[in-house]
Amino acid sequence: MKFEELNIHPILLKQVYAAGYKEPTLIQEKCIPLIKQGRDVVAQSETGSGKTVAFGLPVLEQIKPREGLQVLVLTPTRELCVQVSDVFRQFGRAMKVQTASIYGGVGITPQFDALQRCEIVVGTPGRILDHIQRGTIDFSRVRFLIVDEVDKMAEMGFMEQIEDIIIHVPKKRQTLLFSATLSDEVDILAERHSNSPIKIMTEAYVSKDKMRQVYYNVQPKEKFSLLVHLLKSKGPGLKLIFCATRIEVDIVTRNLKSQGIKVAAIHGGLTQSKRLIALNQLRDERIEALVATDVAARGLDIPHVRFIYNYDVPKTSGEYVHRIGRTARAGKSGEAITILTERDYENFDSVLRDHELNIEPQEMPKIIWVPFTRRIEGGRDERFGGRRFEGRGFSREGGRSFSREGPRTGREREFPPRERGSRVFSSRNDFSRAPSREGFENRMKESEAPGRAGYTGYSDRNRRRGKPRPRFGKRNFRN
Ligand code: AMP
Repeated sequence: MKFEELNIHPILLKQVYAAGYKEPTLIQEKCIPLIKQGRDVVAQSETGSGKTVAFGLPVLEQIKPREGLQVLVLTPTRELCVQVSDVFRQFGRAMKVQTASIYGGVGITPQFDALQRCEIVVGTPGRILDHIQRGTIDFSRVRFLIVDEVDKMAEMGFMEQIEDIIIHVPKKRQTLLFSATLSDEVDILAERHSNSPIKIMTEAYVSKDKMRQVYYNVQPKEKFSLLVHLLKSKGPGLKLIFCATRIEVDIVTRNLKSQGIKVAAIHGGLTQSKRLIALNQLRDERIEALVATDVAARGLDIPHVRFIYNYDVPKTSGEYVHRIGRTARAGKSGEAITILTERDYENFDSVLRDHELNIEPQEMPKIIWVPFTRRIEGGRDERFGGRRFEGRGFSREGGRSFSREGPRTGREREFPPRERGSRVFSSRNDFSRAPSREGFENRMKESEAPGRAGYTGYSDRNRRRGKPRPRFGKRNFRN
């Protein structure tokens, strides 16, 4: 099919060819005519399938410049918000309409101004609600409501906020819902807020035959060294490394950096600007790998990811499929590599049970051992709940000394196991210098003697003046 057959506005058609698109993707072919007819749509489509253009073009040709806010797009993450806004800006410029990106984590004041001037708002639920409460957003002319990645919204707990937003949008509108999977939440949202919607299903854009899926079953201590080995030996190409938690993402990133691998972290705990810098670095190929959590990576349009690493196995098979869906796009080849340890067996089992996925086991290659430390920023250690680690530590099991700064050198001293009653940590809580009960009692006795106040602080002068003996609180005794 050709874009001309979709009957889109000539100005937009020109933009489409200028963007280098030769023909519409499947989702565009199916969605554009329906949206142009004014139908509500519920579409199943993955990131990378061209869904932004699929709703962007028919909406853009129906709105009018300088007639107030007419389109509201809700996205689950800030990154997706920026991505979708960029598409609206790219195509909207020629139509003389303006787009405002409304997300949290940045100043709200510049957004007041942008909201006054735009025809399209792309935003995340929290910040949009904030503007509703402040009365700084006017929905009275909104004709198109688009909720992108509804399944992700549900997963992130945004459904209630979305409902709160939708009640402020005029009922006379077109509602377009997009989601990678058509879950119950999508059905509920469609039932409550759309008008006889048409369901559109699309095939995943991933070329399954061009994707190789393998796993390595290793000891936990081998995990990081294997990752480094694979990253260095598998050749060029962008890599996405998935970890289960934000802390794990930070730790793995720091350790990879100390191995000379050009890598950046992306997760919800980072500031917006840091996340955008990381994404741009990857797009410009200034770094070769991104370490990410599922939530942060979902919906990101990163072209030509060649390798997906599951450093932690995802909890559900759905997540596995989403992760591997980031590679082997548009006919390019890709590889998904899962590093499995004993604690991941249950998760991996469910991945294999739910899907007829062909994941081949691999022999452990010969690897070079590399150091791995869980120490987190500023001398803090994740094992101590992120508290600053003071000086040397002794553990009952025996251990190592930790320096405050810099990566491990491999020359740390080994210490024998701590004996019961020996000194612990710093002098601040060094109870070995606390008075013994015996000593304290002796001093109390001494203080009875005339002219001796001893340890009690009950001085001769006070005794002479007839002041009462001070009462002591609880003390630390050594025995
Ligand atoms: P999505 O995140 O689903 O909107 O996909 C966006 C990616 O698909 C972007 O990299 C677009 O440049 C690309 N894209 C959108 N439409 C087309 C098309 N018709 N042909 C080729 N690439 C497209």
